[in-house]
Amino acid sequence: MAGTGGQRIPRMIRGSVVVQRRRCGKATCRCADGQSLHVATVLSYSHTGRNRTLMLAPDQVEAVTAAVARYRQAQAHLEQQANAGLTELVARAAARRGR
Ligand SMILES: [Zn+2]
Repeated sequence: MAGTGGQRIPRMIRGSVVVQRRRCGKATCRCADGQSLHVATVLSYSHTGRNRTLMLAPDQVEAVTAAVARYRQAQAHLEQQANAGLTELVARAAARRGR
């Protein structure tokens, strides 16, 4: 269980956690001056070729950041294994040709 409020965060999440500063669009809001912008931590991700963002509640940020890091780590590990497999196969082919 991660975070508070009994909310479960998935073990791995694809995307990046980023801090956004933006206007909300309301003409009467403090952010309308372009200076007092709203700060929100979001999960930025791509879906069907489009970039999207998902607002994160303050108590989700830490767990989501960790889940994103876990995914990156697993992805790097997978990539490393697959590259090692490729290297091995290429080396075998070279050895066969050399015989
Ligand atoms: Zn606003």
